[in-house]
Amino acid sequence: MLTLARCLLVLAAFTSLTFPVLAASSPLCQPEPKESPAKERAWNEAIARLPSLARSLPSRPDAALLMPVEGVRVAQVANTWNAARPGGLRHAGQDIFARRGTPVRSATRGVVWRIGSSERGGRWVYVLGAGGRRYYYAHLDGVAAGLREGQAVTTSTLLGTVGDSGEAETTPPHLHFAVFDRYDPAGPCRFPALDPLPLLRDRPARAD
Ligand SMILES: [Zn+2]
Repeated sequence: MLTLARCLLVLAAFTSLTFPVLAASSPLCQPEPKESPAKERAWNEAIARLPSLARSLPSRPDAALLMPVEGVRVAQVANTWNAARPGGLRHAGQDIFARRGTPVRSATRGVVWRIGSSERGGRWVYVLGAGGRRYYYAHLDGVAAGLREGQAVTTSTLLGTVGDSGEAETTPPHLHFAVFDRYDPAGPCRFPALDPLPLLRDRPARAD
């Protein structure tokens, strides 16, 4: 019995040590805002397009993402993943601050999945990347001219510029950058968010 009790103690200590690590890396499922029937239909249609768009992309997710905001280093990003937000929400991404109009380039290769706008995100672009991951670029000042849904992108493709559209209008201009794991039709969440910060790498200076 003594041995069993000791085992349980060790297990308890191990669990308390490892749990915070597990909690930090597990996906965050944010409640989605209520949309009009037309917008909800558009989301469902876009989600239905994911498998065919993913066919041209590798099945293994990118292990590293390039800093999407030009001129910002990863070390300059203050970690706000999972921070409390009004209305009981959590911050399911990272905010990358830069001057309005700073170019935002794709952090990965992929395909533009959706371009749109919403009350919370302002003007935004979603890119579908390898492994079914979706990359969300929000609060844009503007979307790059000519960018269209279905277009293939590389890490040098301009998606838009940093701004304060949507709920960012009371804060300095920044990019809200979020990563959503592969959509699982059987899962409880359409947008399971992953922390982008551990995956981000500095973007080499552009030669041109
Ligand atoms: Zn944000």
